[in-house]
Amino acid sequence: MAALQITDVHKRYGALQALGGVSFTVEEGEFFGLLGPNGAGKTTLISLLAGLSRADSGTVRVQGYDVVNQYREARSHLGVVPQELVFDPFFTVRETLRMQSGYFGIRRNDDWIDEIMANLDLTNKADTNMRALSGGMKRRVLVAQALVHKPPVIVLDEPTAGVDVELRQTLWKFISRLNREGHTIILTTHYLEEAQALCSRIAMMKLGKLLALDKTSDLINRISGSQLRVTLA
Ligand code: ATP
Repeated sequence: MAALQITDVHKRYGALQALGGVSFTVEEGEFFGLLGPNGAGKTTLISLLAGLSRADSGTVRVQGYDVVNQYREARSHLGVVPQELVFDPFFTVRETLRMQSGYFGIRRNDDWIDEIMANLDLTNKADTNMRALSGGMKRRVLVAQALVHKPPVIVLDEPTAGVDVELRQTLWKFISRLNREGHTIILTTHYLEEAQALCSRIAMMKLGKLLALDKTSDLINRISGSQLRVTLA
């Protein structure tokens, strides 16, 4: 079964066509890259996946579950790391992660929460209030939050935009481990080099359309010096 199946999805915001008939499939266990310049439609696609907005037409399935008609099942199989840092400022890191677990109906998962925090170098901030964390630390919590329910499919929306080298390395080490353990990873990024290092396949979007989708090495060969590189700028 596919981890993610997107079929002929259209989405408009007024006169603007944010997604104009996008279709692709991500297989279970893949590390998949979604690339494209500002406004390509990557975040719009993720908000449809997460059930935060609805497509005008077309379907999105997570592990076979339709994100509209089977929202709870689809959402419980999906971990989303959004771009925005939105938290309750008065909760500690541990409380934030327990709250998120509660959202998925999970009561006792402190061992897993401890393991996530250790892997993201957050352990010594466990009892710190969210408002007292730096931007980079908050970003780590955002990633941790997406993992509390051990989702088989993990989507990261530009998780390394504006973060330092150390956090990038910590993040990719942990995410790569989760991928080796069988989790499907879908990463949106502007950085071709980052996608090249991590992803086995890459889809390229521009202005709501899919421009190309291929194995990373094949795509990189085709891109060199061609107009596809320009579209990523
Ligand atoms: P970026 O790399 O900058 O994050 P993106 O590929 O994620 O870009 P989207 O954020 O999906 O692109 O935006 C696609 C288009 O839809 C853009 O033109 C954007 O302005 C528009 N858009 C996105 N959300 C809304 C909204 N809520 N209302 C109106 N227009 C929107």
